[in-house]
Amino acid sequence: MREDKVMELLRRRGFLWPAFEIYGGVAGFYDYGPLGAMLKRNIEAEWRAFYTIGEGFYEIETANIAPMEVFEASGHLKSFKDRAVACKKCKAIFREDLLDGSGRCPECKGELEYAGEFNLMFQTRIGIKEEGYLRPETAQGMFINFHRLLRFNRNKLPFGIIQIGRVYRNEISPRQSVIRLREFTVAEAEVFVEEREKNEHPRFEEVKGEVLKLVPRGEGRGGGNNGKEMEEVLEEAVRKGIIANEYMAYHMAKAREFLEKIGIPSERMRFRQHERDEMAHYARDCWDVEFFSERFGWIEIVGIADRGDYDLRAHSAFSKADMSVLIEEGDRKEKIIPHVIEPSYGIDRIVYAVLESAFYEEVVGKEERRVLRLKKEIAPIRAAVLPLLTRGELKEKAREIFRELKLSSSLFIEYDESGSIGRRYRRQDEIGTPYCITVDYETLEKGTVTIRDRDTMEQIRVPIGEIKDAIS
Ligand code: AMP
Repeated sequence: MREDKVMELLRRRGFLWPAFEIYGGVAGFYDYGPLGAMLKRNIEAEWRAFYTIGEGFYEIETANIAPMEVFEASGHLKSFKDRAVACKKCKAIFREDLLDGSGRCPECKGELEYAGEFNLMFQTRIGIKEEGYLRPETAQGMFINFHRLLRFNRNKLPFGIIQIGRVYRNEISPRQSVIRLREFTVAEAEVFVEEREKNEHPRFEEVKGEVLKLVPRGEGRGGGNNGKEMEEVLEEAVRKGIIANEYMAYHMAKAREFLEKIGIPSERMRFRQHERDEMAHYARDCWDVEFFSERFGWIEIVGIADRGDYDLRAHSAFSKADMSVLIEEGDRKEKIIPHVIEPSYGIDRIVYAVLESAFYEEVVGKEERRVLRLKKEIAPIRAAVLPLLTRGELKEKAREIFRELKLSSSLFIEYDESGSIGRRYRRQDEIGTPYCITVDYETLEKGTVTIRDRDTMEQIRVPIGEIKDAIS
């Protein structure tokens, strides 16, 4: 199957490797190889720029381990749980909400029985005695610093804060390789806004005419291919109450914009609203951005939640810290607890979605060509410098061009002289390198190289001095 070819390529070329492989592997853990790590960082960098430069949000970085109180207050200790069922026959364990409801084991059709409720947080110790937990989301780090963030922001609402980091969830029985992990990276924004302003986003004008594909509450659960989709203009969706407020709608539009920017086509995206019994304990409303994967069906890649004032109120009650904001507008002087709108991006799933979307297999002449059509801004390697033949004089010139180019462009450039030129092109196509710069005898004579475009496979000849501009 095509999808398995994607995973095969990703393993073989050094993007994604099952973790602890030499010890038999552990479900729910994946390592990024050299190219995967670069791709992931490039996507994170795009995300960071999108929200810091684009939205004016500041980034913080908070602790990954927290004392018990934090999750007592946030409600995770009590509510961050999944129900498990076990097959009486083959003993396999499943998360109840991911099953089809037939009461039968998806693997051997045996009878299933309830096996208990399990908290998803990894527990650890801080020092010798104190109970600690690995964070299951980065959000809490932003909430518990709210009073400082508010002061940093000169006591004014609204403002947004972002964080990118690893989170840990002890998933009951992860089976979907890279999609369901026990340790993964999220990129989260917390937007703090006064409740009565949630319907007046200052930049709603910019997005209000956009049409989104929606699956509102009651139209089907995710995780499969079900769900009735409708197309709706954003402004209308807010007016009709399908989307609760302008802040939610604005951030839904922004999520789509970002995902398209990094190469996930909007035809493979839709927005699905959570059913009431499916929402996290803190959420008032929640829309997932789902990506259609040929391998996994519809999967959630971003969650956009209206968390109300749940978290700030909870931390304020438990810690006694003042999380209120003084609003002074003309005669009005009032202390309020802000509401929070949260777009939460699952970076690993997004990396996979980008790769699956970029994978093409085509027949060129007699050969099959596999290519990753990654956007050039996120491709791990921007260009490869290749001597046409592995003769001394060409290698020497190619190395010189390579050294010069990487220093002057600050882009990640690769040099490769191993094997035939055809094989080297194929490798660069498979790892998504947008440009191959080939050094041949004309380079020695006339000072020009060829630049081969990954997608069209066309080659143009340019003077050495113009390579940098051509690939930037
Ligand atoms: P949540 O806080 O549950 O909405 O999760 C935020 C995002 O993280 C989701 O939109 C998913 O893309 C991603 N995510 C959630 N659980 C997992 C998991 N077990 N493995 C990988 N990504 C996940």
